Amino acid sequence: MLRTVSCSASLSCASPFFRFFRQFPRSSTAALRGPARNLRRISSPSAGRRVLLRRGLRVSSAAAGRGVNGQFSRLSVCAVATQPAPSYPNVSQDEAEKLGFEKVSEEFISECKSKATLFKHKKTGCEVMSVSNEDENKVFGLVLRTPPKDSTGIPHILEHSVLCGSRKYPVKEPFVELLKGSLHTFLNAFTYPDRTCYPVASTNTKDFYNLVDVYLDAVFFPKCVEDVHTFQQEGWHYELNDPSEDISYKGVVFNEMKGVYSQPDNILGRIAQQATIVDMKPIFLENGVWTLLENIAISPDNTYGVDSGGDPKDIPKLTFEEFQEFHRKYYHPSNARIWFYGDDDPVQRLRVLSEYLDMFEASSSRDTSKIETQKLFSEPIRIVEKYPAGRDGDLKKKNMVCVNWLLSEKPLDLQTQLALGFLDHLMLGTPASPLRKILLESGLGEALVSSGMSDELLQPQFSVGMKGVSQDNVQKVEELIMSTLKKLAEEGFDSDAVEASMNTIEFSLRENNTGSFPRGLSLMLQSIAKWIYDMDPFEPLKYTEPLRALKARIAEEGSKAVFSPLIEQFILNNSHRVTIEMQPDPEKASQEEAEEKSILEKVKAGMTEEDLAELARATEELRLKQETPDSPEALRCVPSLNLSDIPKEPTYVPTEIGDINGVKVLRHDLFTNDIVYAEVVFDMGSLKHDLLPLVPLFCQSLMEMGTKDLSFVQLNQLIGRKTGGISVYPLTSSVRGKAEPCSKFVVRGKSMAGRAEDLFNLMNCLLQEVQFTDQQRFKQFVSQSIARMENRLRGSGHGIAAARMDAMLNVAGWMSEQMGGLSYLEFLHTLAKKVDEDWEGISSSLEEIRRSLLARNGCIVNMTADGKSLTNIEKSVDKFLNLLPETPSGGLVTWDGRLPLRNEAIVIPTQVNYVGKAGNIYSTGYELDGSAYVISKHISNTWLWDRVRVSGGAYGGFCDFDSHSGVFSFLSYRDPNLLKTLDIYDGTGDFLRGLDVDQETLTKAIIGTIGDVDSYQLPDAKGYSSLMRHLLGVTDEERQRKREEILTTSLKDFKEFAEAIDVVREKGVAVAVASAEDIDSANQARSNFFEVKKAL
Ligand SMILES: [Zn+2]
Repeated sequence: MLRTVSCSASLSCASPFFRFFRQFPRSSTAALRGPARNLRRISSPSAGRRVLLRRGLRVSSAAAGRGVNGQFSRLSVCAVATQPAPSYPNVSQDEAEKLGFEKVSEEFISECKSKATLFKHKKTGCEVMSVSNEDENKVFGLVLRTPPKDSTGIPHILEHSVLCGSRKYPVKEPFVELLKGSLHTFLNAFTYPDRTCYPVASTNTKDFYNLVDVYLDAVFFPKCVEDVHTFQQEGWHYELNDPSEDISYKGVVFNEMKGVYSQPDNILGRIAQQATIVDMKPIFLENGVWTLLENIAISPDNTYGVDSGGDPKDIPKLTFEEFQEFHRKYYHPSNARIWFYGDDDPVQRLRVLSEYLDMFEASSSRDTSKIETQKLFSEPIRIVEKYPAGRDGDLKKKNMVCVNWLLSEKPLDLQTQLALGFLDHLMLGTPASPLRKILLESGLGEALVSSGMSDELLQPQFSVGMKGVSQDNVQKVEELIMSTLKKLAEEGFDSDAVEASMNTIEFSLRENNTGSFPRGLSLMLQSIAKWIYDMDPFEPLKYTEPLRALKARIAEEGSKAVFSPLIEQFILNNSHRVTIEMQPDPEKASQEEAEEKSILEKVKAGMTEEDLAELARATEELRLKQETPDSPEALRCVPSLNLSDIPKEPTYVPTEIGDINGVKVLRHDLFTNDIVYAEVVFDMGSLKHDLLPLVPLFCQSLMEMGTKDLSFVQLNQLIGRKTGGISVYPLTSSVRGKAEPCSKFVVRGKSMAGRAEDLFNLMNCLLQEVQFTDQQRFKQFVSQSIARMENRLRGSGHGIAAARMDAMLNVAGWMSEQMGGLSYLEFLHTLAKKVDEDWEGISSSLEEIRRSLLARNGCIVNMTADGKSLTNIEKSVDKFLNLLPETPSGGLVTWDGRLPLRNEAIVIPTQVNYVGKAGNIYSTGYELDGSAYVISKHISNTWLWDRVRVSGGAYGGFCDFDSHSGVFSFLSYRDPNLLKTLDIYDGTGDFLRGLDVDQETLTKAIIGTIGDVDSYQLPDAKGYSSLMRHLLGVTDEERQRKREEILTTSLKDFKEFAEAIDVVREKGVAVAVASAEDIDSANQARSNFFEVKKAL
């Protein structure tokens, strides 16, 4: 597996304007990233704070296009706007009428070179936005307003459930059938606090319309409203295997939300939203603080005072009747907004829709689902809450504090929104932004939390806060936030900072790089953020004019005249301020568990013997139903492509290998809209072993320490003004057939073609001139990193477990774990002390890393742009290379580290677990065949999905095969079980041996695999993937061969693979990230199976 360790920019695309400014890692969601292959990323449209996804885990190629912080170069937005309007196929008024629609309005949107037409379905009032352009990555989305009245999680459970079978597609989970056998470039569903979205995307037109039809049928005619079993499976149910045992709660959403409620950052985000946008009637307690009782939903004005995702305490209060009623009420065309985007026929869109919509009469749902405005508070309020913390950690510095404002009662005009987004970027967008910098440098806390503007709901919010704060410092943080805001209002911003922010925004708009997220979906989420509140759906797409006007105002009046009044009006003089303090409570996790247990004991005590027997029977009935596969006839109804629809060749990326100044250069001639993407790769072969864990901090120091002549703020502003962003990170992977891993240090950047010289000059400046002298800043980096790693341990424990197992099984995994796993966290704790004691030593180690990495020898340059730009930038590359030392200092080292092979359990305070097991299948003599991809996908989508998720109740269960190292790993996510899940993993070989797949199932599995292999990529990602293949020795001939092997996978391959995969059962290692209670009982049940390691 290929890994890079660095902050990964989280894609936040749900807000019309603020989203553009969020490319720089705002939240601390550092994740192991694998640009070439998959990564277990939790994908979320808005940093996971409020939006829930049906499929939290996406095992698809991670966005190679991201990770470069979004900073920019100067360009005129008008250049985009002056393109002539191409003509796209039209829908005449007549055609629309015939299909039951009226054309409401039509506009050419120059910003996205699209013709957008708004239709209204005459009979039901359903609105349809039909966007036509040349983008082959077609997008469909259906959005319903679904305001909940309580925190039982109805919208979320319904979102899961409607995809479990429908009128035309009466199989258990058509959604999973689509996951298995379509070429989708996006397939998921989101629950927001007030709406539910069902989006799909594909580049293949036939596939696209298959997906659309399954989704339409699911939303309007789901089986789940008739069949209580789906509600039980996805929502909640009592489980009792034997009347003598204890009753437990099970349910996919129930466990998903337990996971959400195990993360302090999530709890804080949820309380912030609920408390800020709801009119509370708080209860006054004797300790002098307002508190939230009964989940805040005490006479709310609107829907935001509750959790649409569901609070695990409330989910079991939900009844099937309420669930049915909610569907009847809101899942109606009159309450739906539908989005089409891409290069398909716009008449066909209406034709498909009319078949569904014509079946309905108009309903009042559009009125009943209206979201009410929250009146602004006349006085600020304060809330203190507890969160579950570990018992052993140092709790003194574990408070969190966050100040939130609801900015306005009325919707804001576009220019004000844009200005607020700009202000957000100026205050918090980069490490050099004053509010961020001052808070972090104060030393009052470890990291920022829940910070920034958010405008994806009816009324915009702003929040800023810190975590890792001691009790004594809570008030100081609040004071510092307020005094800094005051100072910014009084003094304004530095003109270089304003210019850097403006360029950042413009570059981002120009590049429109949504990573692996379809562009059409990103646009839909922008449009819907207004449209859902009955405002103009076109407006959020048209930024050119308001941006021009804003720029003109800044030029004429100065930035202070523009931004100071905004800070004053919306923040400083706004009494709707909600301060939330969260205190660590080491008892809370076990208290919650005890409470749940006592409720369940009461339930059991209240049951007669017959009741218990009946419950055990119902449990068994549900399990049988879950484990009985759909019949081949039933499965046939879910539309799928044929193998003949699949291209026989992989997508080739134009790659020309040459050299400049003796250095190997890869050139990719692709249309990039006048942007140059460049990577310079250095070898880590001369780095001393003990310096390895310092590499991530070395990278951060390069970006955030400054040179002799430039402070880090100036350097960051320069990068912002002249480039589209630069990032640096380490990258490691096994190489198939080689003992030595691939271990590199990558510098990545982008700029407008005319700015390439600046880009390479700045890269050189970062690499060679930055001084490692700022002890105080380094100290902050360490504490931020600790906070980030701890957050990851709670939120992505499966990633930590996977890294740990890899570190036991291969050298590349060990290297990666040293720089981003539990070992790294342990290293950081030691380092935190050393910074005070031996800063000189650390500083010279950082210098030593630089000397070991930087060298022309062994360096590779990768460039993606159009042919002319590629030629033009050669001179800059040459100059850059000339400035590098010839060879690295120090001799070659051999990497051979491994963690001892043993089963480990890592203890964290959590209500749900992450369970992994892995082994190396190459050790059995297995030789890589393309069928392995098909088989491992099939195992994930059938065996693990059915057992770990559907009947086990975990949010996710999947496997991953790293074809470079041979490591096959099983992982679960937010899992209520532990040993039981390991047993399921161990049963995989037998599952494969007993498997009987017909040709159709096989074809589906093959097509789904090709869909992953051919994942849609923007130009920068294409160039980057090609570089990765070059580094790992994957040739185009090999890709073609693998593709043929995938396309001809047979049942025989499955049986043979069973033998290889048995090695995981026989010799594999298990690592769990779990609660102390569950680990204890596992060790009791299986005589100290796990070595226990405390982590939080
Ligand atoms: Zn969910």
